[in-house]
Amino acid sequence: MEVDKMDENEWKYHGEGNKSLVVSHVEHSQVLRFLKYPAEEPGNSHKAAKEAFGHLQNIVDFSKNVMKPFLGENYVHHGEVVHLPLDFVRQLSLKVEQERPESRCDKVMDIFSGYALCLPNLTKLQTCHFSESVPPICIEIKPKCGFLPFSSHVTKDVKHRVCRFCMHQHLKLANGKWKRMSRYCPLDLFSGNKQRMSFALKNLLQEAQNNLKIFKNGELIYGCKDDKDCLQDLNALTQHLKPYFFPANGLIHGPHCTRTVINELINVITTALLSNSGTCRTGEIRKVHISEGRAHCDASHFHRDILRKGSHSGLPKDCVLSKILQAQMLDNVDIEGLHPLYNRVEQYLGEFPKERIKLQIDGPYNENCFEKLRNSQSEDDGTVDYAVRKVQQYRVAMTAKDCSIMIALSPCPDDELPEPNLVIQTSKSRLIYSVSILDLDPKPYENIPHQYKLDGQIVNFYLKSTQAKQ
Ligand code: ATP
Ligand code: ZN
Ligand code: MG
Ligand code: MG
Repeated sequence: MEVDKMDENEWKYHGEGNKSLVVSHVEHSQVLRFLKYPAEEPGNSHKAAKEAFGHLQNIVDFSKNVMKPFLGENYVHHGEVVHLPLDFVRQLSLKVEQERPESRCDKVMDIFSGYALCLPNLTKLQTCHFSESVPPICIEIKPKCGFLPFSSHVTKDVKHRVCRFCMHQHLKLANGKWKRMSRYCPLDLFSGNKQRMSFALKNLLQEAQNNLKIFKNGELIYGCKDDKDCLQDLNALTQHLKPYFFPANGLIHGPHCTRTVINELINVITTALLSNSGTCRTGEIRKVHISEGRAHCDASHFHRDILRKGSHSGLPKDCVLSKILQAQMLDNVDIEGLHPLYNRVEQYLGEFPKERIKLQIDGPYNENCFEKLRNSQSEDDGTVDYAVRKVQQYRVAMTAKDCSIMIALSPCPDDELPEPNLVIQTSKSRLIYSVSILDLDPKPYENIPHQYKLDGQIVNFYLKSTQAKQ
């Protein structure tokens, strides 16, 4: 990318989250990810823009030096910070404004600093096997937390039975974030059991919220921009997907068509999620088990009878779900156990403010801060060092609970035979695939008290609303 020859006409709106807005190049497989700021604080946004470079560099370092060692080399693309002409950024921001969903417009894109992250466009396959007639498709899943807390610090018993996602649904519906309840439960997806995973994926397709998106040639064809703007027509999706699964067109028609194609899609996603494409090693498949007692969520709608027969197969050790789950489980004292440790750090920093830099609370996230996290002494010896390490482990877990998985798929041409472990055989076709993980930003240290409060709110609201129904 030549930053002095940037042309806003070559870039278009791609999507956004809570913290950043993403534009994609119309031809090359690249995206630019800009920071966003609250719209009502223009004074602050100038100040924040000044800090943008440091903030973005922290994101790159955190992905590269902290998250990558946990999640695996091949899944993570940390990107780089680029400085762009301010004119280009301003024109671009005007251009994308009309595409943005209403619910996201409480924040504005950073047009003051000129800094952005440049990343590969993960909705497209990086190894170009481009087929002109059938462009790549990509499934994005934001799986959220895949285990029940096991910490003895948990005070409300319901947290050992019902997962955070399922409890949070009740609060999100009540405060109008979403209009309909999702029946997706992360514990079904992370179970490693194909039946439960299919069930989880079907529920995601029924009610995508911000947990599922499907792109074709980089364009969103299924999923929600916000609660008012959702593309969720399974028949339309079927028409898009048919050429990937049934290339000899015309073989399937009628009412079974949608079900057949969607089942093929679900099988492909399940296979990709369980494959060890991150390491490209084949052979021995070790499984990671979470002990049975904690392996399912009482709020899941998965058939109880089947659950009793044991439907927790465990995850192959190096598959993307297992990598994410292991990082999530660094949160092993729960927010209830962490909050007092956070207070211990705060009290210490109150007395010795200069220590904040030495303890690397807000970075820099260099290689040795990862080593410190790995050496996990489990007993609390009352020290500040212990508290800091727990806080940092919790933040890594938070990032892993909020990331997205991207599965890119493209038809495999007959004459080419890429590495066998990058091809999925469906019943009537062969697809090349790649799996990556995105959105690996560090979560702010200062957010911990808010997380503590939110946890209490979610649990109390869940108890109140489910008891009211009984
Ligand atoms: P969140 O609110 O989930 O924390 P965020 O503000 O941190 O989101 P991202 O999740 O990184 O932002 O980006 C928003 C969306 O943009 C993603 O959900 C994804 O659809 C798209 N996106 C981000 N990075 C890429 C990429 N490298 N390639 C393709 N699409 C991307
Ligand atoms: Zn659940
Ligand atoms: Mg995101
Ligand atoms: Mg994010």
